[in-house]
Amino acid sequence: MAIDHVVYVVITGSDGRILDRQSKRIRRSSNGSPPVTEQPLYPDDRISASLLQVPLTAPLMTRLIQSAEQTLVPQEESSDWLLSFFIRNETLFDFAMPVLRESSSVTPLLHRSIELEDKIGPTLLSTTSPVVGLVHIGITDAQAKQALLIIVRNASILTVLIIAAGILGAHVLTSRITTPLRSLANSARRLAHGDDAPVRLIASTNDEVGELTRVFNIMIESLHDRNQAITMNLETIRRQITQLTTVHQASAAIAGANMFDMDQLLETVLQLLVENLGFSRMAVMLHHPKKNCASFARIIGVSPELVEVAYRLELPIVESGIAADLLIHRKPLLIHDIETIPQRIFPPLFELLRRSGIRSFVAVPLQSHTKILGFLSADRRSRPCSDEDLDILLTIASHVAAAIDNAKAYSDLTELTQHLEDRIEQRTEELSRANAQLQDHDRRQSTFLSVVSHELRTPMTAIRSFAENMLDGVTGSLTELQHTYLTRIQHNVSRLARIIVQLLDWSRLDTKRVELRVEAVCIHQIATIAADSLQMVASEKNLSLVIDPIESLPTIHGDRDKLEQILVNLLGNAIKFTAPGGRITVECCESPPGLVQTCVADTGCGIDSSHLPNIFDEFSRVPSPMPASQGAQLGLCIAKTLVTMHQGRIWVESQPGVGSRFYFALPIAELQDEASRGT
Ligand code: ADP
Repeated sequence: MAIDHVVYVVITGSDGRILDRQSKRIRRSSNGSPPVTEQPLYPDDRISASLLQVPLTAPLMTRLIQSAEQTLVPQEESSDWLLSFFIRNETLFDFAMPVLRESSSVTPLLHRSIELEDKIGPTLLSTTSPVVGLVHIGITDAQAKQALLIIVRNASILTVLIIAAGILGAHVLTSRITTPLRSLANSARRLAHGDDAPVRLIASTNDEVGELTRVFNIMIESLHDRNQAITMNLETIRRQITQLTTVHQASAAIAGANMFDMDQLLETVLQLLVENLGFSRMAVMLHHPKKNCASFARIIGVSPELVEVAYRLELPIVESGIAADLLIHRKPLLIHDIETIPQRIFPPLFELLRRSGIRSFVAVPLQSHTKILGFLSADRRSRPCSDEDLDILLTIASHVAAAIDNAKAYSDLTELTQHLEDRIEQRTEELSRANAQLQDHDRRQSTFLSVVSHELRTPMTAIRSFAENMLDGVTGSLTELQHTYLTRIQHNVSRLARIIVQLLDWSRLDTKRVELRVEAVCIHQIATIAADSLQMVASEKNLSLVIDPIESLPTIHGDRDKLEQILVNLLGNAIKFTAPGGRITVECCESPPGLVQTCVADTGCGIDSSHLPNIFDEFSRVPSPMPASQGAQLGLCIAKTLVTMHQGRIWVESQPGVGSRFYFALPIAELQDEASRGT
């Protein structure tokens, strides 16, 4: 009975008598009408009777179905209403266990369930039955139900708790991860759309999301700072673009002004700057280093009366003054208020500034290359000048300086040109006079030469005749010394005659009084004529003079006499500078193609190579190992002049002690004709 779910225990003898019984529960009966009776709960007697009739050797479980009229009074009211609710309908099971004789053989046990209503009968157990009694134990399912209910309830509570934990977890997840991430995403989206107002996110946790939020905040601040910096830079750039555009326009206008009149240039430039840069008054002062002062070259924006005063002003450059800063130290100036620096401004200028109403101004040196030309100043009337104004003026100053420099250079150039023109005119006059004098001198020289030559010829001819006569014995026999002297006289007279001829030829060529009478000629033929004329002189000196024969040679266009003169000069030299026993040859050929080349070669004394370059100059003064043979040194010069007149070329090859080869080449007639036809 100590066990909770045991309701009753009944011990019955073999005759069905109840030997002992105990019950913990009470049965409440109501047969439709009150009063309600309550009595301890025991099994129906019929169960015992039935069991005793059919002796069982095994326990028999019988389910006691409660009728509507009978209910079990609960053993104790449970405080748990839920348990009370579910265990309201208890089911009672009766376990009937037969008590068997110890030694008797027992009929095989039949397990069967006996329904109380069907099986109960009036018969009692026979005395032979091995069953000596029965023990009934009533067991209720309330405990089992209660345990089950507790399990179910606990499981339900656990499930609810799990669900709640899940919901809580989801909530925590949302509040700690998803929401901050969403905020981050929104913020990032706003940033991406250009919303530059930084929205600081609150880092609610210390985990990775919190770290991410903090980093994101730093990033937003950094972006914001950069944005602000960019905006400021953009503003600066915009401002500078505006300034540069203005400066560019002003520069273009200055460049386009194209003025070299300084006054007009400054007037235009200052006007342009005032219009383009928005200054009220502007002035240019020019530096006069020699006088160590500066003066107003142009001022605009002030009354004509003050302009007059300004133009009369000479600003001395003293160390403490603003002019020295600008013109000596090349420093730009931004004066916020002239009243604060009266001691640095020359008093008349200070007075002028006051009268003009100028308090604040900017001034920059005008520097071109390394030279300070002056300075440019400007003001904005009542508005104080700023660093920006100084920058603008500095930018434009170089253009203004360049324009002033150009104008100055142009004015200097004009002055110089005028001066040069005057000088040229003067020189031209002097030259014309000198030329006239020279021409006159030339004329007189030529006249002198021809007169002298002519006048010398007659006495020379007489001397030569007398000498020849005396050598021929006309005046009687001669001593050996007399013969020698007369021979020398004869030789020198011949030399003198040649010199006079050459002087006359040169004089004619020099005054361009020679004209060619051109015809088709064969140079070989002319060379033969020239050689024939000198054959006797050569044989007198025991020289062989040979003309190399040639089958055919193209003709050239030339003046017969002049060509003969060239050859006579060259052959004459060859005879003069070749010692007796030597050989002189004349060779003609067509070389190179298109030219007829003539060569006069000798085996004479030759010419030193250092003298070859100027051997064709007039009065060349070339030294010779045979000085007695030298003449006026005009023969080769005349030859070269005549060759050049024939569009030819002359040159020499010589080796001292071996001989010389004088060449001249002239174009052949056919080619000259073709060329002239072509042109
Ligand atoms: P000139 O014969 O009257 O002195 P040229 O002008 O003919 O003047 O010659 C100039 C100089 O060239 C000669 O004085 C002489 O020294 C040198 N010369 C000219 N021809 C020859 C030659 N064939 N051989 C050596 N020297 C020569």
